[in-house]
Parts: sequence; C-alpha cells; structure tokens
Amino acid sequence: MSTATANELVSRKVPQVRTKYRRIVTEIPVPESIPILQRLRTFEPVSMSGQPPILWDRAEGIQVYDRWGNMWLDWSSGVLVTNAGHSHPKIRQAIQQQVEHGLLHNYCFPSEIRAKLSEALARVAPDGLKKVFLLTTGAETCECAIKLARTHGRKVGGDKKIGFVTFHNAFHGRTMGAQMAGGIPALKEWIVNLDKDFVQVPFPDGFRGPDTSFEGFLKALDKQGFTPDRIAGVMTETYQGGNASFAPPEYIQKLRAWCDEHKALLIMDEVQAGFGRTGKYWGFEHYGVTPDLICCGKGISSGLPISAVIGRAEIMDLYPPGSMTSTHTGNPICAVSALANLQAIEEEGMVENARRMGEILQPELRRIGARFPEHIGAVHGKGLVASLHMVQPGGIEANKPLAADIVRRSVEKGLMMFAPVGFGGASVKVSPPLCITEEPLRESIAVVEEAIEEAIA
Ligand code: PLP
Repeated sequence: MSTATANELVSRKVPQVRTKYRRIVTEIPVPESIPILQRLRTFEPVSMSGQPPILWDRAEGIQVYDRWGNMWLDWSSGVLVTNAGHSHPKIRQAIQQQVEHGLLHNYCFPSEIRAKLSEALARVAPDGLKKVFLLTTGAETCECAIKLARTHGRKVGGDKKIGFVTFHNAFHGRTMGAQMAGGIPALKEWIVNLDKDFVQVPFPDGFRGPDTSFEGFLKALDKQGFTPDRIAGVMTETYQGGNASFAPPEYIQKLRAWCDEHKALLIMDEVQAGFGRTGKYWGFEHYGVTPDLICCGKGISSGLPISAVIGRAEIMDLYPPGSMTSTHTGNPICAVSALANLQAIEEEGMVENARRMGEILQPELRRIGARFPEHIGAVHGKGLVASLHMVQPGGIEANKPLAADIVRRSVEKGLMMFAPVGFGGASVKVSPPLCITEEPLRESIAVVEEAIEEAIA
C-alpha cells in the first residue's frame, strides 16, 4: 500500500486518463492549484482539509471539472446532495429567474414560493404527513425533531417522557443536540456532560450489530434503565449514512408498533436517504412504515442550502406563532432551487433510474467484495448508495489506511470520491448523482475495482 495520503499537497505524476467520462492530464494535485489549496489551509480550520486536494471549478451532471483540463466522473454527489446531477439546467434557470425577479430574502414573512415548496413537499410525503417546516441544514432538522419529540412526550406523558433513542454509529449532524443524538462517542467527547435522557442502542445491520432482532432494542433500553414511559421518540437514519447499512424491515416494523404502543414518535432522518437515493422516493419505503416526522436535507435541492421537517399536523403545530421559526426559513433562492429539483427528479424519472442503476451497482460491488473477502468485510447499500467496509485482513477491525488509499487512487484515475467515512473512517462510500447511466456507471465500477486491486497489492 502506498504511503501517500489522500490529501497531502505534493504533486505527483499519475498515468494520463482520457475517456468519454474522465480526463486526467496533469500531475495530482495540479501544481498550479497548490497555492490556492495552501490559502485554504491558512485561512480555514484544519477540520476543513479532509477532502482530496482537487480544486473544484465547475460541475455538471455526473462530472466535476478543474481549471486545468481534468474531469472526474463523480461518485460523491458533493456529499449526497446533487441527486438531480450537478448544476441541473432547470435549477440554474429557476435560480437565475428568482435573482432577476428581485426577492432574495423574506424571513417568515409570507411568500408564494414558500407556499409552493411546502405544498410540493407535502404532496410527495406519505399520507398524514402534510405539514412542512423549512430550515437550512440537516442538523437543524434533527434538532427540530428532538424538540418536537420532547415537547410531544411531555404533553402525553409528563416531564419524565423526554428520553430520546438513537443508534450506535448514527450521524445526525454536528450541532449539540444532533451530536448528543449521534452514536459515535468520539464526536461528542467535547460535550462532556451529556444529557442523560439521550440513549443509544445497537444498529441491527447484521455486521457490526449482529443481533438483528427487535428484542435487541428492548434489551438495550432495559439494560440502560429506560422504561417505555420515559421515551419521547426514536430517531434513526433510514440507512446509516457512514456505512450505507439498512436495518431489517421486520425490525423497523416492530419499532413502529412499539412507538405507537408507547406514544413515542418515530423519526426518520432522511437527510441522506430522501429524494430517490435508495431507488425509492423515501428510503423508509423499504421498511413499509410511515414515520411521524421526516428530516430532509441534502438532495432536497441538489445544491443550495435548504432542509425541511415534514410531519403530522398535531406534532408540527405544537408551537404557537413565532416560536418555531428560523431566519432563513424557505429562503426564496433556495426554495426555487428545491422546487425545480423536485420537478427534475419527477419529470426525468430519477427515482426509477436510481433503482435500475442500483440493480447494476449493488451486485457488482458485492462481486468485488467477494473477490477480496480478507479486506472488504461487508458491502452495504441500495439503489445508488453503497459502502465498501474495509477491514484489517480477516477481521472486522476498521482499515482506515486501506480505505484512504483506495479513495486516493480512484481520484487520481478520474473518479471523484469523498474521504472515507463511517465506522473507523474505513468505509468507501459510493453515491453518484441519480442521473448516471449504465455506461459511465460500469466504467466507474471498473475504476474502483482497479483502485482496490492496486491498493491491496
Ligand atoms: N443527518 C444525516 C443522515 C446526515 O448524513 C447529515 C450530514 O451528513 C446530517 C444529518 C447533517 O446535515 P448537515 O451537514 O446539512 O447539517
């Protein structure tokens, strides 16, 4: 395995690549880009330097370009944002028209754009979930869901009913409540005095959470001293973002019934999974359940910062006028981009395309996993999201250097990927835009397979 790290700022000669979808014609990182990358390192916190050292200049459809003639086939979608493809023409046009029209901001003052977007989101949401609160980031939607669950819990069960259940390895964002709900202990060390009414249980992925029975959930709560009368809500990512891992449908169905029985809200964090990513419009459709609240972000607009909580009216209406708001709620530019994005996803059949392309991607990645069982502990995913879990030879311990090496090699071959994520930072995440077609998809699978072969050799 090479000792070069994925993001060091030393240009290296790499083989040239020239295909219809990828072009690498310079050293990587591009020598001319290094002063700019260095400026970023000077003026941004270190935490911002985790991605491959490629200076994004332009991105369209399934491709990302720099200024020096290189072109990448994109397997990142930013970070699972550009579901409709980068810079979709309809989204660009909608943004331009809104800019020309001349309303850039209106806070909670009424606007027709906000009415249109809320209605459009309510229309694609399941029956019964018809109220929409627009926010800006994914973390904010999780914060809002926590607030609504606890408020609802206190209303139906008194002050003791504020317990909030989430899962090991979960990620819900980097603000304080979202991190307390997260299931990665290292990310919340800084909080020190964690709220004792946040509790985590194992995620039943069948790999690192081998007990996939719902009894595991009950036992974990019991072991930590939580009785159902203390639980206000249970929140889960529809699939665990870091690892693209799903729970068994029966588990989530039993969880739905348990939440109903105990008047706890079931919240699906669809910030990654929504808007077609998994080959269904909503990821939770794979489980055959309807949550009480849905957290949306990322693919909601395919680019601009906007997010939403969608839920049942009696929960969403718990707060009186003026007490659940946000400065940038439904910002007009972001809202028109989300509206155009919803239209593009629907009109261009991108959910169906994600399902069909997933039928190629998923078996191919599992075939690659089976080729290298010593190093790839599991392959998880559905539709156009997947993760290759890199492990220490023969075990299930995370192999971060191997994952980083695969990403670096892929990027040098013209396949854009973001830095490894998930358990131990050792998961190679696959998430192309939902408009990818068979030819580039097969080409990109061949590239990652080559990168894995080389990294393991
Ligand atoms: N929830 C999930 C499942 C996510 O994947 C993320 C971001 O990666 C978030 C919440 C937080 O979203 P944001 O970064 O927009 O705050």
